[in-house]
Amino acid sequence: MKIRVAINGFGTIGKRVADAVSKQDDMVLVGVTKTRPSFEARRAVEKGYPLYLAGAGSKAEFEAAGLPVAGRLEDLMAQVDVVVDSSPDKVGKENAKLYRNAGVRAIFQGGEKSEVADASFNALGNFDACRGKRYLRVVSCNTTGIARAASVLVPRWGVDHWEVTLVRRASDPAETKRGPINGIMPTFQLPSHHGPDVRTIYPELPIATTAVVVPTTLMHVHVNHVRLRRPPSDASAIVTAFRATPRFHLFAPWEHAEGTPQVMEYARDRGIGFNDMMENVLWEEGLRLDGSDLYFFQAIHQESIVVPENVDAIRAACLEGTTGPASIAATDRALGLRAA
Ligand code: NAD
Repeated sequence: MKIRVAINGFGTIGKRVADAVSKQDDMVLVGVTKTRPSFEARRAVEKGYPLYLAGAGSKAEFEAAGLPVAGRLEDLMAQVDVVVDSSPDKVGKENAKLYRNAGVRAIFQGGEKSEVADASFNALGNFDACRGKRYLRVVSCNTTGIARAASVLVPRWGVDHWEVTLVRRASDPAETKRGPINGIMPTFQLPSHHGPDVRTIYPELPIATTAVVVPTTLMHVHVNHVRLRRPPSDASAIVTAFRATPRFHLFAPWEHAEGTPQVMEYARDRGIGFNDMMENVLWEEGLRLDGSDLYFFQAIHQESIVVPENVDAIRAACLEGTTGPASIAATDRALGLRAA
């Protein structure tokens, strides 16, 4: 029996998760929703994804655009085991009532508060603790990146203190109403909300985060300073551990990937999905160990890093017998990501 999946909200995250689900051997994509006709609604139809109406969507409007509609969200929910809610920030909280009434499991995104779900989820961080829970929230792109890094550092060397400065992209590439387009905007919430969000996965982690927003659309970059409790004698052990972990991509110095433009050029060369970069990206040159002080940079492709996590969250919520490593391996194989 395959897991029957619906995607409610077919935007930046939803369309990527829809493609990722449709590639999994143990899942079937039953349908996706749109609230109004758009080029993305047309792409859903062209890909053969049954289209359903969400929110105030009108069937007549879609039909006038030549886009066939299979029904409303309620009709879709009646046919699935789980809904991935990828609607805009805070809309998921409203949708949660519909899912509970319909008796379907749901996966929410990081734009919702953690209370929307039974647990916050990261595949490398806390898969086991989330297994069997009906409502999960995949943490945001930045939190996912930090939680993945924590899954490498915490069990091996322990963490006494961790400071992250998040250099955040101003908007996604297709967004034109956000900025700045010329400026660096400090986030005056000190520390920023990201640290507490990481603690929804690692409750004891002594982490403090601060953030600035800069005029780029490509990726976020995290500047990390970690004090390790039991540091290795050499940084090469840390590089080896990151390289051996799924969902990390390390650039060697000879690759001349000097920053996020080259990282995304590599992603276009590789051509997975939407030319996405679903892994945490680290630079070997950008990792240094000084006694117990570890410094490293990591780049996070905000549009796609949570995509494999959503696939794993579906398995955690729906398959009692599965394990984190088995799910991660299945997801990554289907997506064409490197097997660690
Ligand atoms: P988006 O605006 O690109 O897509 C949201 C989609 O939901 C749109 O297609 C919109 O038309 C649709 N929608 C609007 N109202 C709806 C409703 N009532 N029911 C169903 N669908 C509705 O947004 P996004 O960037 O994909 O973000 C979705 C979620 O993912 C948010 O919680 C966000 O915080 C989170 N997230 C976004 C990013 C990112 O960088 N874009 C990264 C990680 C997590």
